[in-house]
Amino acid sequence: MKQLTKKEKVLRIIQILNKLYPKVPIPLKHKNPFTLLVAVVLSGQSTDKSVNKVTPTLFKLAGTPEKMAKLTVSKIREIIKPVGLSPTKSKNIKALSQIISKKHAGQVPSNFEELEALPGVGHKTASVVMSQAFGQPAFPVDTHIHRLAHRWGLSSGKNVVQTEKDLKRLFPQDLWNKLHLQMIYFGREHCPARGHDEKKCPICSKFG
Ligand code: SF4
Repeated sequence: MKQLTKKEKVLRIIQILNKLYPKVPIPLKHKNPFTLLVAVVLSGQSTDKSVNKVTPTLFKLAGTPEKMAKLTVSKIREIIKPVGLSPTKSKNIKALSQIISKKHAGQVPSNFEELEALPGVGHKTASVVMSQAFGQPAFPVDTHIHRLAHRWGLSSGKNVVQTEKDLKRLFPQDLWNKLHLQMIYFGREHCPARGHDEKKCPICSKFG
C-alpha cells in the first residue's frame, strides 16, 4: 500500500470518523452555556464520567450564575469533591459565577477574550464553550487529540497550541466542531495512550 500524503490522510480520516461517529453527542451533561462552562472547568484533569456524576446535584442547587455565586466555596467543594482538585475548582466556579452575574448580566460571554479572562478558564475550556455552546468554529485540543494528531503524522507540535494550529490548517473550518468530538471519541475507544495495534486499527491500517 502506498504511503498517503497529509491531504489524502485528512480525507480518509474524515470519511472513517463520519462512518464511526455519524452523531456526536456532547459528553458533559449540561442545560445551557453556563452549566456547560462549569462542567468543562470541572473536567480539567478529570474524566467526563466523574463530572457527570456530580453536576446533577450541583446544577439542581445552582443552575444559574446568580445562584452559584451565592453558594459558599465550601458547599461547592463538598459537592464536587469526587472530581478531584476541588479546592481550586470550587474557588474558580464561585469567582467566575460572580463575574458572569455582575459583569456580563448573567450571560456567559461568547468570545474568546472575555471567556479566557474568567478564573479557571484557559484556551481549551474557552474553545469547548465557543464550539459546543455557541456553535462558533473552534478546535479544542485535549490530550487525546494531541496524541492522535501526532500518531497520524498531522502535527509534530510539542504543545497543544501548535497542534491546534496544524489541525486548523489541515481540516476545513466547518468540520472543526464535529471533528474534535469525533476525535475524542475515537481516541478514547480505539487509540489508547499505551498499546495499539496498527494492523487492526480502523484508521492507521488504512494509511499504508
Ligand atoms: S494504529 Fe490506531 S490506535 Fe494506533 S495510533 Fe493509529 S489510530 Fe491510534
